[in-house]
Amino acid sequence: MEHNRPPQRRGKQQQQDPLKVLLIVLLLACFILLGVYLLRDNTPAPADTGATTAAQTRPPRTEPTKTSAPPNTEAHKTEPATAAPTTAAPTTTETTPADESWKLVLVNADHPLPEGFTVGLKELRNGHHVDERIYPELQQMFDDARAAGIYPLINESFRTAERQQEIMDSYIARYEAQDMSHEEAVKKARSLVALPGTSEHQLGLALDIIAEYDADSTATWQWLKENSWRYGFILRYPADKVDVTGIDYEPWHFRYVGKAAAEEITERGLCLEEYLNK
Ligand SMILES: [Zn+2]
Repeated sequence: MEHNRPPQRRGKQQQQDPLKVLLIVLLLACFILLGVYLLRDNTPAPADTGATTAAQTRPPRTEPTKTSAPPNTEAHKTEPATAAPTTAAPTTTETTPADESWKLVLVNADHPLPEGFTVGLKELRNGHHVDERIYPELQQMFDDARAAGIYPLINESFRTAERQQEIMDSYIARYEAQDMSHEEAVKKARSLVALPGTSEHQLGLALDIIAEYDADSTATWQWLKENSWRYGFILRYPADKVDVTGIDYEPWHFRYVGKAAAEEITERGLCLEEYLNK
């Protein structure tokens, strides 16, 4: 073994001669590279330059992003604002069928409110609330009515399930006060008041409208019956549809269904159940 090693070393040394040259060249190259690298590191390494370069590189980076950020966000704000309709347009065109479905949600004794139903509400000046999506057309309808000498007033609008229950309870209490038994009072109240979860008012799409300055609302109801479809509303419980709707004639109760459906429903003399084939 000992004999073998020296010859091996010699052999290596002999072989390493050309290799040594290569190694030296490589080492030199490494040193040069290291030197260059260290020189580069050293220039930013000093605290001042480092700080300034850091300050120069950072602030210019943050400042441009800060100064460019507002323009960017502004640009983004204006771009999405202009792009929003285009980006929102596909989504709205995609959600258009969904939009149509919210307009035509059927709520009655057989079709309770969809589970987990929520709605974005718009508060009106008189404290009433409606589905915010119907507000522009509702406002337009009232404006046009006033221009025609009709002054409608919203008497009932969006109701929560709790409010619907309160109304039911007040009716029951009223009939009990009239010496009805509790069962009779409940039966009577349920014939007049929808059970919570089955009232269209919980959608925020139904309105009970009366005349603002007149005890007789007939003229107001007549105007609405003739014109409300132009704004997407229908007379929801017509006198000739009691058998279908299961609700007595309510000349004051108007329901938003959207302009297209309202026009067809009015033109064909349908009620919502018939229009939806339900
Ligand atoms: Zn009503």
